[in-house]
Amino acid sequence: MRADRFAQRRARLLALVASEGLGGLIVTHVPNVRYLTGFTGTAGLVLLLPQDTVFLSDFRYRTQAEAELGDEVRVEIAPADVWERLWRVLAGYPGVERVGFEAQKVTVADAERFTRVNGRTRFQPVRDLVERLRLSKDADEVAAIRAAGRLASEALAATLPCVRVGQRERDVAARLEAELRTGGSEWHPFPTIVASGPRSALPHARTGDRVIERGDWLLLDFGAQVDGYCADVTRTVVVGRPADQRQRMVYQLVREAQLAARQRVRPGMTGREADALARGLLEARGLGDAFGHSLGHGVGLEVHEGPRLSRLNQDPLPEGAVVTIEPGAYFPGWGGVRLEDDVWLGPGGPELLTDGDVELRELL
Ligand code: ZN
Ligand code: ZN
Repeated sequence: MRADRFAQRRARLLALVASEGLGGLIVTHVPNVRYLTGFTGTAGLVLLLPQDTVFLSDFRYRTQAEAELGDEVRVEIAPADVWERLWRVLAGYPGVERVGFEAQKVTVADAERFTRVNGRTRFQPVRDLVERLRLSKDADEVAAIRAAGRLASEALAATLPCVRVGQRERDVAARLEAELRTGGSEWHPFPTIVASGPRSALPHARTGDRVIERGDWLLLDFGAQVDGYCADVTRTVVVGRPADQRQRMVYQLVREAQLAARQRVRPGMTGREADALARGLLEARGLGDAFGHSLGHGVGLEVHEGPRLSRLNQDPLPEGAVVTIEPGAYFPGWGGVRLEDDVWLGPGGPELLTDGDVELRELL
């Protein structure tokens, strides 16, 4: 990613910070630090001021920070307590009186430090300032998610032909994760879900020891990560024999709902309206109660971020957001189907970033 991208993001954030009546912002949420500076490590914080961007971390990250951050960011490596160093740095800017911090990302223990600091600085909790900027993805971000989506497809394509009746869920997950890693995924952005038979009815099942039986649903929900950006994909397949009539019926209804939503979702519609694209179809076919979660979520540097495609979200979806479309239908004791793809809400309409291949697959 080009260095000027980060400078542009910081400039846009500073405008938001000023509009909140603040003289600066302490950014502690690691994905936000990465978004603003390009730092790929896991420990560091940023003090963003109109006159300076200061990155603070400990000695483990000195070399990495100096290599990744570019000339415009001042790097401060603290020998011990990064927060103590932060107070010292802040004391060098006597004109800065009110500084924001990320209310949802600071621990109570760290927040207590604000009350102990002497001097004129006042600290004010703020919410979602960086997250607001992150909603709309630029071309580089979309390209990274698309690349992650491609890795996810390739890993699944390499895994499914090896699935057999008699294997455990964890055997399948191990294979899939190995394919993701060797294919180039930086990490698994969340624990891979492989849920078989009746366990596929648990929307957030954990991969377990259950042995796959003939005729089982096998639900695979997994992610890939490229340049820090995630793709999030779910496929549901039948193992060991062709789908029976009920399986086929449920699958086709979920598929129809997924296709409708991913083709009709648009920037500007509310999260609730987007959710209704799939929910309305499933409700009309009597599957409304079986679809107990929301349609989707934003995906980017974090696998779950804004905006929500949910009945509870009355805000318009921003142009440039990348969201998942993942309707499902779950029947306790029988099983469930979920189909998930990622789309970019471009000005001309939705664009798929994952393969979108939701034909019913029977692994015979
Ligand atoms: Zn998922
Ligand atoms: Zn998801």
